[in-house]
Amino acid sequence: MEIAKTNWPWVESYLRTKAILLVPIGSTEQHGPNGLIGTDHLVAESLARAVGEDLSLLVAPTLAFGMSNHHLAFPGSASLSPETMIRVVREVVTSFSRNGFRRFFFINGHGGNVSSLQAAFADILADRPDLRLQLASWWLLPEVQEKEKEYFGKENGFHATCGEVSVTWHLYPGAETPIAPGVAPDPETEWPVGPERYRFLYPDGRMGSNPALATGEKGKVLFEIARKAIGDRVRKFLQLDGATMTGG
Ligand SMILES: [Zn+2]
Repeated sequence: MEIAKTNWPWVESYLRTKAILLVPIGSTEQHGPNGLIGTDHLVAESLARAVGEDLSLLVAPTLAFGMSNHHLAFPGSASLSPETMIRVVREVVTSFSRNGFRRFFFINGHGGNVSSLQAAFADILADRPDLRLQLASWWLLPEVQEKEKEYFGKENGFHATCGEVSVTWHLYPGAETPIAPGVAPDPETEWPVGPERYRFLYPDGRMGSNPALATGEKGKVLFEIARKAIGDRVRKFLQLDGATMTGG
């Protein structure tokens, strides 16, 4: 259930038995010549909504901007600084905590968000030890990585990956855009890099990927694997919460 499509009495009644909120977070950044700019937030959003349906849990509105500074030399990309991102996450979590939410499970679609999210969690928990926070970055789940390896091997790459492009084509079939086969460069040099340096090193935006291998059918399989894997982790997160929180 999406919190945006409920009303306050509904949320109040949810909070009588459950204190968990699923929070999708991603980015708005280039994903190579044929990947959707919204890939990272669209995938996180769809996964959060699917897991929310599976487990009858509330889902927050998607945090669609992330730490994407290195992509800013490509049109259509926008970024929050790490400092702003930490503040946004902190203020969203503490606002919802005033309503009675105590458990926040972030479903993340963007690698550039991970360090800022971890910093935000540390910052929040320093003041609010009554809260619990968890992060699942869908493409890093071993279950997903195993399948991506089987499908794409090394050609999955690190940005605009075959896996994420496949999942968006499953979710948005009309977005399928062919691309000539070929693995994008991956010079394995310094990281992070600034926007112009990124475009110099990775001229079409991809990092080491060959999204000509992407298909919506593979995306469906990867999506369902991620949905189950995240659901398992949400259940575990709640089970380890002690008797009072069992079930949500
Ligand atoms: Zn991405």
